[in-house]
Amino acid sequence: MYLGKIVEMADADDIYTNGQHPYTHALLSSIPVPDPKSGRNRIVLKGEVPSVENPPAGCNFNTRCEYVQTICLEKEPELLGNKDNPNHLTACHLFHPPIR
Ligand code: SF4
Repeated sequence: MYLGKIVEMADADDIYTNGQHPYTHALLSSIPVPDPKSGRNRIVLKGEVPSVENPPAGCNFNTRCEYVQTICLEKEPELLGNKDNPNHLTACHLFHPPIR
């Protein structure tokens, strides 16, 4: 959930092994690993955290997403099931490009 909206929803195992939304990746990368040699890279989000009262147009994660595209500034992505797993829902244009 980001800025009050669900951006990804799936079984816990699926989220941990096959998380898709860029915000999910950042959250998972922030989980501490009790092994300093694990080599896992933490994703540190850049950009401004928008106000919940005045979210950006389009995708509400677009001010912090490293994959932002023009469509992300214009159209809010729908929370849709993925091709291989309809129960794994993701709200991101990377996975569900809109038909123009
Ligand atoms: S819709 Fe665009 S801005 Fe939003 S998470 Fe996906 S790629 Fe990033």
